[in-house]
Amino acid sequence: MHPAAGAPRIDMHTHSAASDGTDSPEALIAAAVAAGLTVIALTDHDTTAGWAGAAAVLPPGLILVPGAEVSCMVIDRDRRVSVHLLAYLFDRAEPVFAAARARLRTERLDRGRRIVAALSDGGVPIGWDDIHALAGGAPIGRPHIARALVAAGAAGTVQEAFTTLLHPTSPYYRRKQDLEATEAVRLVRAAGGVSVFAHPRARRRGRVVSDDVIHELADAGLGGLEVDHTDHDDEDRAQLRRLAAQLGLVTTGSSDYHGTNKTVRLGAETTAPWAYEAICAQGTGAQVITA
Ligand code: AMP
Ligand code: FE
Ligand code: FE
Ligand code: ZN
Repeated sequence: MHPAAGAPRIDMHTHSAASDGTDSPEALIAAAVAAGLTVIALTDHDTTAGWAGAAAVLPPGLILVPGAEVSCMVIDRDRRVSVHLLAYLFDRAEPVFAAARARLRTERLDRGRRIVAALSDGGVPIGWDDIHALAGGAPIGRPHIARALVAAGAAGTVQEAFTTLLHPTSPYYRRKQDLEATEAVRLVRAAGGVSVFAHPRARRRGRVVSDDVIHELADAGLGGLEVDHTDHDDEDRAQLRRLAAQLGLVTTGSSDYHGTNKTVRLGAETTAPWAYEAICAQGTGAQVITA
């Protein structure tokens, strides 16, 4: 269970209750210690609100990489595809990227309201106030709505809510206006950050992009591809590794931990030290945080 002393264990993608995870930032750090991690990146959706709480409780020997996961879209062969971009080591005060994150949070609130209204109109009444309370000020994500659906008995589990009422093909699903992905890569760069395309082949969530899009993002300054992720099979990983090598991109691995909103455990997938160091070498907007 515990790695050899001193062996690096690097998880570059995790969520706290500052977005749609269930562990507070402080509890996430405690869980990282228990999982034997040496590096943890906190990448809450569209917010940096968890950085301070996590930083405040860091023990010696654990490095915190400040980050975020931003919701993006891209038009690929005339079809809209939703994609997630991980951003690391950016300057959170840089105004253009900060304004983009603020807009995405407002979109989440509005989209959450629209989904809840559609569900209520369709005879699945769940209370907006309960969801708002559950989120506790975090940007609203479908996991918050999923938990309300479970509490109301409209879904058996969070997972089930995602494959039924909250799936993109559901009549109750509503879209938000996400950042255009190429633009997002440029914004992260301009804020001194490094961007990594999160779970690029996660087909269960919906459509995925063609390699052409990944080429375009690389041209715009993308830093890496998240290759080792539970939503990728062996073939996906092999293809992504080849593509990354071809484009000179770093490859990462991470759990995408969300506490009890998902079953994956912290450190279930990890990033190689060379890739972590390459990201640190490219990020100039913020520094990694240590005790
Ligand atoms: P949203 O960003 O509000 O559209 O919701 C997407 C989020 O829902 C992702 O970041 C995941 O945290 C979560 N998610 C997606 N699919 C599932 C699933 N099958 N089970 C639990 N959580 C999921
Ligand atoms: Fe999430
Ligand atoms: Fe994601
Ligand atoms: Zn994530």
